[in-house]
Amino acid sequence: MYGLQYDCRCGQPGSEKRGRLMAEKITAYRFDQLDQTLSQLNKENCAIIAGGTDVMVMYKSRRGVPPKIPKPIVFIDHLSELKRVYQKHKDLYIGACSTYSELLENPLIPGPLKKAIKTIAAPAIRNRGTLGGNVCNASPAGDTLPLLYVYNAKLLLRSVNGERIVAISDFIQGVRRIQRERNEIVAEIILPSVMEEGAHVVFEKVGNRNADAIAKVGFAGYIRLNGAVIEDARFAFGAVGPTMVRSVDIEKGLFGKTIPLADTDIAQVVGAFDKIIKPIDDQRSTAIYRKTVALNLLRYFLSMNQYQHNQ
Ligand SMILES: Cc1cc2nc3c(=O)[nH]c(=O)nc-3n(C[C@H](O)[C@H](O)[C@H](O)COP(=O)(O)OP(=O)(O)OC[C@H]3O[C@@H](n4cnc5c(N)ncnc54)[C@H](O)[C@@H]3O)c2cc1C
Repeated sequence: MYGLQYDCRCGQPGSEKRGRLMAEKITAYRFDQLDQTLSQLNKENCAIIAGGTDVMVMYKSRRGVPPKIPKPIVFIDHLSELKRVYQKHKDLYIGACSTYSELLENPLIPGPLKKAIKTIAAPAIRNRGTLGGNVCNASPAGDTLPLLYVYNAKLLLRSVNGERIVAISDFIQGVRRIQRERNEIVAEIILPSVMEEGAHVVFEKVGNRNADAIAKVGFAGYIRLNGAVIEDARFAFGAVGPTMVRSVDIEKGLFGKTIPLADTDIAQVVGAFDKIIKPIDDQRSTAIYRKTVALNLLRYFLSMNQYQHNQ
């Protein structure tokens, strides 16, 4: 198990299995059923591990030293209840533990989301990393997040107390800060009405290279037209603030306008985002570069006069 010392308590009552590989040990649970997993989370404060691609980096130690995870860990990536992808009416339900590679193979997944997934890391990480992990890690540079915001994604959380549904924009509260109770698991990501025809959705990521690069800027644009009239428009920017930058007020200003948009309308929307996008300088990019690129991507999206249907 990742070369860690461990004391593995498998979920079957009476079938506790222990293996000690080194002096220090951690406790790891891998239950067969979601219900058993939820009971354990209710009893004990555990670190959830789905694909582990963020967790293992978060707790990494110096070279040659196993990661130090300060709590018992509970594996959830194998739970079939968390891996289903299905359509209900016009909504799409994606199991939080679906890996990126699985989603790329699934015909229900919208093209723009597949495009975003293809920009994430390399195949080895995509074979482990999950959509739920990207959401719960709540990185400003999480590549699926701009799209999940413009899809108005909701999260279905489960615990021993039942279920609740929360909008992604409420769930993610800051850098690596989420509104999850200790005993809850994100079970499904819901994309409301995404199976409805008629929305045009664009995803763009700017990084150092096309693959295996963390975003300097991420952008998702969503537009729904009735003929040439804009019925709905949504924009979300990643890696330019502590969470995704989205403004429903600015978006509403476009409702009822016709495409192609007048230059003054485009300038107004770009100017409004100019005021609220406040990136920082860091090891990946500079604030000025990030802002310039973010606004250019928005301008490019608004200037399109032929949008492609892509769910
Ligand atoms: C080399 C490398 C390259 C990467 N490149 C990219 C990239 O290009 N773009 C990008 O966006 N990310 C990238 N990542 C980050 C990572 O792969 C993704 O964020 C991935 O989606 C995390 O999923 P996971 O299942 O591995 O999460 P984990 O590491 O298992 O978990 C991440 C966090 O979410 C919590 N969690 C996970 N699932 C649930 C759940 N269902 N319910 C409640 N809590 C949960 C965990 O407790 C933990 O806090 C990269 C990582 C590595 C190591």
